[in-house]
Amino acid sequence: MASKKPKIVNLLTCPYCNNDSEFFEVAEDALITTYYGQNEDGSFTATDQNSEILGSVQLFCGSCGENLNGFHERFREMIF
Ligand SMILES: [Zn+2]
Repeated sequence: MASKKPKIVNLLTCPYCNNDSEFFEVAEDALITTYYGQNEDGSFTATDQNSEILGSVQLFCGSCGENLNGFHERFREMIF
């Protein structure tokens, strides 16, 4: 028989300030390609952008800015 598992809520929380809602990543080395179309008046409008991350990516707390790289793998697994 399948047993009913209780829902596990396991939020990533910043150990420095207890923030659990805002985080950001910084890519150390990225190749960003932006495509432009030229308009009739000679101005340019960006039409598309590609970014390719070449270096490592660090995770930071969006509230206090501390480096949370120890949680990064878990963070990545939880992006849907
Ligand atoms: Zn924090």
